[in-house]
Amino acid sequence: MTLSSNLPSRAVIREVGLRDGLQSIGSVMPTAAKLEWIRDAYAAGQREIEVGAFVPAHLLPQLADTANVLAFARTLPGLTASVLVPNLKGAERAMECEAGTMVLPLSASHAHSLANLRKTPDEVVEEIKRIVDAREARGAMTKIEVGISTAFGCTIQGRVEPSEVARLVKAVVDAGVDAVGLADTVGYADPAMVRSLFKAVLPVAKGKLNCGHFHDTRGLGLANVYAALELGISRFDACLGGIGGCPHAPGASGNVVTEDLAFMLASMGIETGQNFDGLVALRSKLAVWLQGELLHGALWRAGLPKTMNQTKLA
Ligand code: ZN
Repeated sequence: MTLSSNLPSRAVIREVGLRDGLQSIGSVMPTAAKLEWIRDAYAAGQREIEVGAFVPAHLLPQLADTANVLAFARTLPGLTASVLVPNLKGAERAMECEAGTMVLPLSASHAHSLANLRKTPDEVVEEIKRIVDAREARGAMTKIEVGISTAFGCTIQGRVEPSEVARLVKAVVDAGVDAVGLADTVGYADPAMVRSLFKAVLPVAKGKLNCGHFHDTRGLGLANVYAALELGISRFDACLGGIGGCPHAPGASGNVVTEDLAFMLASMGIETGQNFDGLVALRSKLAVWLQGELLHGALWRAGLPKTMNQTKLA
């Protein structure tokens, strides 16, 4: 193995299937199944799970039980449960429910930001400042993470300028957020784009840029993870069974496939603490819970190579 010395020795896979995955699937997963998913994911070694979102239930009925799901996740020692919040109102709920992390989406595409949140990116930055202030006023422990969505391009606007991504990252870091990630929301990125955008943004991120959120829409998800790893990025969002998809790309995968990513990292000698047998067993349950939905991924079919003689991917 000849690996670049920059590759981290450990990496975190944050499971986002319960939020990013389920929000784009029409049927509503019962709360009991979500709790079983979290329990099994935890048993398989996952320690960061995005459990839902605090958005109005009529907009996302799939995530209407987020407070209950979060309350369960908080009973598991050492598990960081994150929730997505689009605004101050959602952030207040996340803090009331003592979420470990709240993830705020900030679209680098002006057009996507208006379509999605009915605010310009700069108006969202102002809202993020209000959220930082609200947390301080409460003395809440909930960490604030910003996910820069459409960082690599947008289905509405097309090109998104890297300088605009860097400007927004600098603005939220200066505002006092704890962490920032770059998201390829629509699956436009390739490894060269990942390399050049992270390189452009890292110098203004003051050590806060630590997450890559890649979709496998066009099959480049894991290649994009590798490009980010080479720059020292060590946290990645992923969905069990690659659920999620994209309304603009029918049949496409969602986020990178959790179990395939866990395998790639373990095979490269990067510790994730995740147990392959546990993940694959959970994937089988997911296939039952989401009957009729297309699941993605390769490893569940092929199994581990014989040369990897342990099932613990650590
Ligand atoms: Zn996503």
